[in-house]
Amino acid sequence: MSAPSDTLLEELADADEALESAAPSEVIAWALERFGANVAMACSFEDLALVDLALNQDPGLEVIFLDTGSHFQETIDFAHRFSEQRHVNLTTTTPGPDADAWPCGTERCCELRKVAPLARALEGRAAWLTALKRVDGPSRAGIPVIGWDERFGLVKCNPLATWTDDDVEFYVREHGLEEHPLWTRGYASIGCEPVTNPVALGESRRSGRWSGSDKEECGLHG
Ligand code: SF4
Repeated sequence: MSAPSDTLLEELADADEALESAAPSEVIAWALERFGANVAMACSFEDLALVDLALNQDPGLEVIFLDTGSHFQETIDFAHRFSEQRHVNLTTTTPGPDADAWPCGTERCCELRKVAPLARALEGRAAWLTALKRVDGPSRAGIPVIGWDERFGLVKCNPLATWTDDDVEFYVREHGLEEHPLWTRGYASIGCEPVTNPVALGESRRSGRWSGSDKEECGLHG
């Protein structure tokens, strides 16, 4: 992994400033125009808003699904259903061989199920798209729209950074996209099964993740 040049960092800062108030589709368009085929996106298949927006511009975009081995079966089925319908260029990662030795909540579990598989999947790429939003929680409140990702050594684009949860829901409904089957059962933010709980009325979406723990992130964005 090589360090970014000052010129690139300046370019990213300028783009970030210029795109701060832009629609997600404009951010995606910038990434595709700037990095061409060297862009991939990671999708947790919690909802289909960003993946739909991105595939509308580049139907051949590589979509990376981190199968941690701990997802709800509903998430796996949802991801496969959508991918078949839209003929998605899908890469599904799998956990490292020692993952079962490390229980959920340990750093090594994240490393083997998410971080290392994603690093391998992003190898050779110049930029990736994520569905992070500032409203997801304090650890994401300051994320840029465009920035440099130290951990993975490439440009990180967060087209939904300024969106709210309502914006996502509105987009999903407005565009007739399938909703994650667990939404109707009270799950709002959906990740690995051991750390995902339904959310009570009036609670924030992310409160169902890592409830009872001070952990907010699992490896990728922390
Ligand atoms: S949420 Fe739990 S099971 Fe999933 S990768 Fe993180 S530590 Fe492992």
